[in-house]
Amino acid sequence: MRLDKLLAHSGFGTRKEVKELIKKGFVSVNDETIKTDKMHVDPQKDVVKVDDEVITYEEKVYYMLNKPSGYVSATEDQLHPTVVDLIDDYYRNDLFPVGRLDIDTVGLLLLTNDGVLAHQLLSPKKHCPKVYYAKINGVVTNDDVQKFLDGITIDDYQCQPAHLTILSHDETTSEIEVEIYEGKFHQVKKMFLAVGKEVVFLKRIRMKNLELDESLALGEYRRLTNEELDRLK
Ligand code: URA
Repeated sequence: MRLDKLLAHSGFGTRKEVKELIKKGFVSVNDETIKTDKMHVDPQKDVVKVDDEVITYEEKVYYMLNKPSGYVSATEDQLHPTVVDLIDDYYRNDLFPVGRLDIDTVGLLLLTNDGVLAHQLLSPKKHCPKVYYAKINGVVTNDDVQKFLDGITIDDYQCQPAHLTILSHDETTSEIEVEIYEGKFHQVKKMFLAVGKEVVFLKRIRMKNLELDESLALGEYRRLTNEELDRLK
């Protein structure tokens, strides 16, 4: 990889700015000051330093975001800010969200540049479990629990059995958790509409074996630990 590209991708400025850094002698490779940006380095082997700070380059990156409402799960959008806009410590342009949460859904969203992992998690054949917490307008009953288990039909599509747990309810509203194994458009909302109820708040709390870190406020994010990453594979 070219030295100027490595530095630009590691947050040291634009290609033009990092060329300046190199020209001014701030950059060393294997303890030798380098004055040409055209040099190629091996990010796994060569020790690159800027002003004595060692640069660690990760090819694949993995973030957990607590998605806030009002952000679109996409890399670009004409009308709304995107979840990628929230990740402000990343300097490459290959980050994307793993699947979609609706604009008003909050909670666990992974962002990565690893297409292979994303495919594994999103492929319908893999039946990756996703758990949501929701507030429902309407009283969710044990009959609904059974219907979810039997497989709800939405838009002529028969959903996989889903595990619905009633957490609490009063005369008009309920709090539930539901585990689904697909990712159809508006799936949870449509499943509740099919039993005559409306989702008024939706939060994803788990994907496969990875739980949302509740210490992240809405809009906050952090890198996954290696152990968390293993839990997704
Ligand atoms: N189901 C929905 O209805 N919306 C989401 O954002 C995710 C699952």
